Amino acid sequence: MNILHDFEYFKPGNKKEALELVKKYGNKAKVLAGGTDLVIMMKEKMIKPDYVIDISDLNELKGITYEEGKGAEVYACTKVADIESSEDLKRKYPALAYAASQLGSHQVRVMATMGGNCCHSSPAAETPAPLSALGAKVVIASLEGEREMPIEDFIQGNRRNDLKEGEILYKFKLPEPEKNSACRYGHIGLRDAMEIDCANMAANIQLEDDKETIKKVKLVMGSVAIKPLISKAVPALLEGKKLTEELIEKTGEAAQGEAKPISDVRASAEYRKDVIAALARRLVKEAYEAAKEA
Ligand SMILES: Cc1cc2nc3c(=O)[nH]c(=O)nc-3n(C[C@H](O)[C@H](O)[C@H](O)COP(=O)(O)OP(=O)(O)OC[C@H]3O[C@@H](n4cnc5c(N)ncnc54)[C@H](O)[C@@H]3O)c2cc1C
Repeated sequence: MNILHDFEYFKPGNKKEALELVKKYGNKAKVLAGGTDLVIMMKEKMIKPDYVIDISDLNELKGITYEEGKGAEVYACTKVADIESSEDLKRKYPALAYAASQLGSHQVRVMATMGGNCCHSSPAAETPAPLSALGAKVVIASLEGEREMPIEDFIQGNRRNDLKEGEILYKFKLPEPEKNSACRYGHIGLRDAMEIDCANMAANIQLEDDKETIKKVKLVMGSVAIKPLISKAVPALLEGKKLTEELIEKTGEAAQGEAKPISDVRASAEYRKDVIAALARRLVKEAYEAAKEA
């Protein structure tokens, strides 16, 4: 039985060859990184690309670098399992390493890449919220050169992003974490069933030098809108203040008020709103406490 349609398969030997193929075949081609989303979509006949360009083995697209004071670069085809276990990421960007550890099962994480997770652009994806909270940018490559943008501008909606014909996602740039800051990530989903998240969130808090007054907050919610939703209400509520129990309660309400979830097979909109309030209360408190120790 033929479970996949007929297509031509390419395995370029380097990034330039990959970019030449991507340019040549344009929208008729799909890039394959780990294949954990792409192959399923092909099997389910949701897409039928004429050409598949396998970039999974390209060393130029793999790896993690970190330089003290400058930040990290994570190449697009780095496996999610390598992000989860990177000592540099665990130390400097624990929210991202933790989010990676929560993606699917170990078998999925050794195949899946962070580039694929962001290019698939599912609203429920694990890594976009922490990447956005951490101020990450994506670098997009084509034969013409490179361009970069914040991850939240790259992801435009459900399975929509800013990649144009002839381009691939090349790498992620993570700025050095701010002084007196900490970022935390959380999610709620039916983990035992390896279900994708019904809501996730990352909160990044920076404190003033007194280590009590909140200088800056970035709170990003996943799976409650067509793309990662950056809270405006929570920074307006918290910046310039010291965190109190009353403010924690109000934080939950503020995030809940902004979330625009839908009801689907995984959860009702009402349940997702409750989850958002609980995540916001928990993560803001955790990030605040961690920032005091940073
Ligand atoms: C059982 C199971 C459980 C899962 N659980 C989770 C979960 O809990 N959380 C979660 O977020 N996801 C989950 N996923 C989804 C999936 O594993 C992730 O989205 C994964 O990170 C995708 O990466 P990939 O390398 O396999 O992408 P691929 O399947 O290779 O590609 C996905 C899409 O991105 C494009 N693409 C990939 N890399 C590039 C690039 N560098 N440049 C341009 N385009 C590119 C492809 O053309 C394709 O359209 C699960 C999947 C399975 C099968």
